[in-house]
Amino acid sequence: MTARLAVLGNPIAHSRSPEIHGLFGEQTGIDLRYDRILVPENQFAAVAREFFAAPEAVGINITVPCKADAWHLADEKSDNAETAGAVNTLLRRPDGTFAGHNTDGAGLVADLKDNLGWQLANQRILVLGAGGAVRGVLANLLAEQPAKLHIWNRTSARAEALVPIFGGKLEALTADRLENAYDVIINGTSASLTAQQMTLPPSIIGAESCCYDMVYGPEQTRFNTWCLAQAPCHIADGLGMLVEQAAAAFEIWFGVRPQTRSVLELLRKTL
Ligand code: NAP
Repeated sequence: MTARLAVLGNPIAHSRSPEIHGLFGEQTGIDLRYDRILVPENQFAAVAREFFAAPEAVGINITVPCKADAWHLADEKSDNAETAGAVNTLLRRPDGTFAGHNTDGAGLVADLKDNLGWQLANQRILVLGAGGAVRGVLANLLAEQPAKLHIWNRTSARAEALVPIFGGKLEALTADRLENAYDVIINGTSASLTAQQMTLPPSIIGAESCCYDMVYGPEQTRFNTWCLAQAPCHIADGLGMLVEQAAAAFEIWFGVRPQTRSVLELLRKTL
């Protein structure tokens, strides 16, 4: 039987997930079909239940703006998904109930450490943004034992609200209190922004800073361009995170961890 999977969101036409999981399926010998499904406003639960009416439906990925709706649909959630308040992977279990996971944080950390070779332990890390993507990665970053984990957001109250939820070393700072030359800076704000537009002090970037933009595209991202203009730092975009979060989802569905390097290289060539 061909296993059925899908990514649900709105918009959805741009999603590279069908291609990524198609490659994982070929690599692991798992026969699968992976669709993109557009979710009309406030229709997530109905659309998901319709998909799972098919007996061969195994699981779904969930993207913007449906991750909170998927959290509500999940009967049981991983600790990570529970804290994040967002689910990006649902698995239908044999008894018909749904297990909810959030693989964004595992995907980010795998890309930073394994693909890019960046160190996180004992490092001073700054995260920009306080939306769904950032909520999904903070627990994984804290688990890496950074020396500091600072968070800045345009709406500072949203960053401050995350501190009691995640605890540990997480500190919410306004732009005037940010430190100089962070070891690692992760942009988790929406696409097509420059740090200048975010009114960040250029001094946050040093020559040794590793700057990561969750956004990706065929060109160098605007955030990464801004970082390089401040200092000859290291930069990377979020394509690796996309592939790694997909690999973690695939493992949840099928119990097999696919190789990511060749998939990432192929995707990079066809951006
Ligand atoms: P979201 O929940 O809508 O949050 C958006 C964030 O961006 C908020 O912190 C928001 O700040 C900030 N923001 C928006 N416009 C801004 C502006 N003009 N200046 C400064 N800050 C601004 O979105 P999300 O789901 O967290 O996604 C964030 C980004 O991560 C998206 O670009 C998404 O594509 C990317 N992402 C990538 C991956 C991957 O695998 N590579 C995975 C997940 C997400 P306020 O709170 O002030 O509104």
